Amino acid sequence: MKTAVFPGSFDPITIGHVDIIHRALSMFDRIYLSIGVNSDKTPFFDLELRKSWLNEIFKEEDRVIVSHYSGLTVDYCQSIGARFILRGLRSSGDFEFEKTIAQLNHSLNSRIETFFLISQPQYAHISSTIVREIVKYGGDVSSFIPDQVKW
Ligand code: ADP
Repeated sequence: MKTAVFPGSFDPITIGHVDIIHRALSMFDRIYLSIGVNSDKTPFFDLELRKSWLNEIFKEEDRVIVSHYSGLTVDYCQSIGARFILRGLRSSGDFEFEKTIAQLNHSLNSRIETFFLISQPQYAHISSTIVREIVKYGGDVSSFIPDQVKW
C-alpha cells in the first residue's frame, strides 16, 4: 500500500491544498493530512478546529486520514508506515525552500521519498499566510478557502 503524508500547518486549509490532495489521490492509496504541532509557534486557528475542517472536507473520502504529530516528519512517517511525503510547489521560492527540506529529510531517512505536485496556475497565489492577513484586516477570504472552513 502506497501511503503518503501531506504535512502542513493548514492554518487554514485553502483550495490550493485541496487541489493538491485530490490530484495526489490518483497516485497514492492513502494520504494522511498531518498537522505538524510546533510548541514554539502559536497557530492562528486552534488545532482541533483545523482538524475538524480537514475531516469535514474529506468526510466522503476514506483514503484521507486526518492526524497531527510533533517531532520530525520522517519519524512520524516511519511510525505510521508511510514511505512518501507529499508537498505542493507554487513558485521558485517554494522550490528552493522545499528542496532543502526534502534533501534534509532524505538524509535523515533514505527510505522516505518526497513527491512534489506543481500548483495549478489559478491556485498559485493562494497561501494560508495571505488568508490570515486578509482575515486580520476583516477582508473576504471566501474565494480562497473551502466552504467547510468556518469560524
Ligand atoms: P507549512 O506550514 O509546512 O508550509 P502549509 O500548510 O502552509 O504548511 O503548506 C503545506 C504544503 O502545501 C506546502 O508544500 C505548500 O507548498 C503547499 N501549498 C500551500 N498552498 C498551496 C497552493 N495554493 N497550491 C499548491 N500547494 C500549496
